[in-house]
Amino acid sequence: MGDAIKKIQATGLMRKLMGAYFAELDQAATTRERKIAWCTSVGPAELLRSFGFLVYFPENHGAVLGSSRLAQELIPAANARGYSPDICSYLTSDIGSYLKGQTPLTKAFGMAGPPRPDVLVYNTNQCRDVQDWFGFYQREWDVPLIGIDTPRSLGDITRDHLDGLIAQHKALIPVLEEVSGVPFDLERLREVVASSYRCTLLWKQVLKLATHRPSPITFFDGTIHMGPAVVMRGLPQAEEYYEVLVAELEQRIADQAAAVDGERLRFYWEGMPVWGKLRDHAELFANQGTCVVASTYCNSWIFEPLGCDDPFEGMARSYTELFIVRSEEYKQRYLKSMCDDYAVDGIVYHDAKTCPNNSNCRYGLPQRLARETDVPYVIINGDLNDLRLYSEEQARTQFEALIEQLQASR
Ligand code: SF4
Repeated sequence: MGDAIKKIQATGLMRKLMGAYFAELDQAATTRERKIAWCTSVGPAELLRSFGFLVYFPENHGAVLGSSRLAQELIPAANARGYSPDICSYLTSDIGSYLKGQTPLTKAFGMAGPPRPDVLVYNTNQCRDVQDWFGFYQREWDVPLIGIDTPRSLGDITRDHLDGLIAQHKALIPVLEEVSGVPFDLERLREVVASSYRCTLLWKQVLKLATHRPSPITFFDGTIHMGPAVVMRGLPQAEEYYEVLVAELEQRIADQAAAVDGERLRFYWEGMPVWGKLRDHAELFANQGTCVVASTYCNSWIFEPLGCDDPFEGMARSYTELFIVRSEEYKQRYLKSMCDDYAVDGIVYHDAKTCPNNSNCRYGLPQRLARETDVPYVIINGDLNDLRLYSEEQARTQFEALIEQLQASR
């Protein structure tokens, strides 16, 4: 990364842990000594781990395909199979990767490809695309496809919603017992959920440190360092990692060391990252004395209800109370509180063409929130992985215009 970007020392440890995570999956895929479950990013990972499954998250692969920019070469292969260029570009990148036999996991971890699953488990809390994505592999490999269908655009979450979702979690158990050969163990589930909860509290602590001025961390750092919270939640390694990261960031605060030198402006990022432009964006903002201090994206892996006494209630609440599952009114209240907590000067909304689910600027929310808060915003058109849908020049002009507007008003 360029000089404007401050290196986080814990990155070395994170790479080591991620390397070990993928090595274990790769070995299991080769020897078939341990069972592998694929899980959507906000799916029931804790339940799967309680059966001893190694858990792999294809969305993480999607993000790596985007940040390596390999997605560009792979998406057309999925399009040719009938997966539209307008649907989730994680899906089309990942299926393209499978069809063309190319993956950045080879260079990064020496893997021939993603580990082949014994079972595919989704939750449609985030979108329908995940079910269709896993459906592709179910047909390819003839492995069980099971999941949870969550209602969306929820305002209040009622007892009826939760009871239905708890029942759906429990209904997965017979298939998971059969595939794993391991009987369900409530005590083991409690332990995994408790570990995942401790991980969530530490990850929340990491993100909350950005309320400090100057912030010790940026959104762009967060998108990288959230890796263990996504793929290792429920494992002790994730907890160990965030203890190290919290200590480093607290030391930065004690030393008055900023993630962005001379932090003058503080921004919020709403929506997905543009993975192939992450570093460019980090440099662009840092060079303008602007720290992107908070985001919906990084905060989406905080699952506080996992602290409930009943682990099923904890999972059902955690995976339904998420921002992405909620109504426009809830989202507006949430964004208002984030603007207040992080003392945000401006908001960037990323309208990601292939992910309407993570784009919150299509139903008047930016305008309503700006009326309520007086916080100015820009909407950039782009995408998470498909860079054909992103205009560098246009986005840069918009970022700079917002920064100039804010500087002029001071
Ligand atoms: S939420 Fe968006 S990016 Fe994530 S899997 Fe669904 S469509 Fe793809």
